[in-house]
Amino acid sequence: MKVSANIGGNILQHCTLENFDYQMEPYIGCEHYCYYCYVLNQAETDWTQEVRTYKDIKERLNVELAGIPPQTIYMGWQTDPYQPCEEDWGQTRQILELLLAKGFSASILTKSDLVMRDMDLLLQMPQAAVSVSVAFNDDDIRRLFEYRTIDTAQRISALAKLKSAGVRTAALVCPIVPYITDAVALAEKLQPYTEKIWFYGLSILDGSEKNWQNIKRILEMHFPEVREKVEAAVFSKEDPYWADLKRDLTALQKQRTMNLSIHL
Ligand code: SF4
Repeated sequence: MKVSANIGGNILQHCTLENFDYQMEPYIGCEHYCYYCYVLNQAETDWTQEVRTYKDIKERLNVELAGIPPQTIYMGWQTDPYQPCEEDWGQTRQILELLLAKGFSASILTKSDLVMRDMDLLLQMPQAAVSVSVAFNDDDIRRLFEYRTIDTAQRISALAKLKSAGVRTAALVCPIVPYITDAVALAEKLQPYTEKIWFYGLSILDGSEKNWQNIKRILEMHFPEVREKVEAAVFSKEDPYWADLKRDLTALQKQRTMNLSIHL
């Protein structure tokens, strides 16, 4: 994988997520190359060949952080800060070292257990949190949709270790692929290791987008019996699949007193 240190412009970006004013992405492009990734639709490089990052990331971020008060910065909304190249490049670790030194915290979303490498830093931040996203119970199915990620059990095991060490943890069940993702089973598995679980369905507006073309190919090859039903639900939030799933998750939430945030 070629990593080019050539991104210009600001590292800190305004964040539209609730509770965060700023976010940052150490990389542009993501080696995980999940076929459903919506960011693929705007990709500037072929992520199987090249991702981009910032040269002198610590020095540049140091200047930008001087202009804002200490707070929690979100990482991981558009690329994974712990994708495989992070092991060699250490950009995310450099960022965390700087955030810690300046009294900031980080809230991180990842699909990788490489985040555990940085537990020493996260444990020293007052508001640090790690969320892991999962979408498939069955690893043969996961490999069809996201063949470069680690398996779901490894991600849940990382959450368990982080939580028991004292890091705040949460999970995203995302994207829920209708009739393929078992969101209820994933919620039950995740609950012991998370403060909160968010649910987001796979939603696509335009059938010509790259991620839908990828998914369509997988459905045609491996799930021909449900392809039409999946397509109907993916393109309409009014499809009964979503209301049924919401009802099941709400029932589970009541039964088990889980902290679920359902966005279906
Ligand atoms: S890990 Fe996240 S950012 Fe990376 S390809 Fe998968 S969905 Fe996209």
